[in-house]
Amino acid sequence: MPAGLPCALCLGGSAELLCPPCSGDLPRLAGGCRQCGLPVPGNFCASCALSPPPWQRLSAPFSFDYPIDRLVHAFKYHGRVFWAGFLAREMARCVIEKGVPLPDLLIPIPVHPVRLYERGFNQSGELARRIGRRLRIPVLADGLCRIDPRPPMVGLSARQRDRIIRGAFRVTATGLAGLYVAIVDDILTTGATAGEAARVLRRAGVEKLEVWVAARTPGWHGP
Ligand SMILES: [Zn+2]
Ligand SMILES: [Zn+2]
Repeated sequence: MPAGLPCALCLGGSAELLCPPCSGDLPRLAGGCRQCGLPVPGNFCASCALSPPPWQRLSAPFSFDYPIDRLVHAFKYHGRVFWAGFLAREMARCVIEKGVPLPDLLIPIPVHPVRLYERGFNQSGELARRIGRRLRIPVLADGLCRIDPRPPMVGLSARQRDRIIRGAFRVTATGLAGLYVAIVDDILTTGATAGEAARVLRRAGVEKLEVWVAARTPGWHGP
């Protein structure tokens, strides 16, 4: 954003997209369970220790609370793509702060072509492209595709989401055997979507998987 514009949240004076007080008030996540991000002491929550999700590590800079929920909505449904730049920067920073090796590839969660036509862009693809550029990691934008459109999952239980998303993805990329891949999405709600993507990538031979999202829903207590 050019300097001199007001803060995008409070409209107060700011040299950046967000003024320091708004930036300081964001619902940031720190520490917590390595695999699901649940804020617990130690490295893993009880749920992941018992039945881990089909990925090794989750990276999520924010809890899906105000104002991150509003800002993701503005990006996704109102085309405020400048928020993609902000979220991607925070996602990249969150990964770097963990100090772990970077993956070979980023693969965004795809949207069905009908939804892509309506919305004009894939929010996960927009995030992955920007993070890939920042961290110099190749992005396989079409590594996964949606087989058919599924109904919106807003308001559904974890079990219902699991059922709806089962079989929704197909791996279109080849040569994934032995690779270390990060799946990129905007929000992790119950882990159903990322879990299904992880399972098909695993079947295609991907060796190690991470999930990188902008925000994790605060109500989710692990897989
Ligand atoms: Zn502000
Ligand atoms: Zn966990």
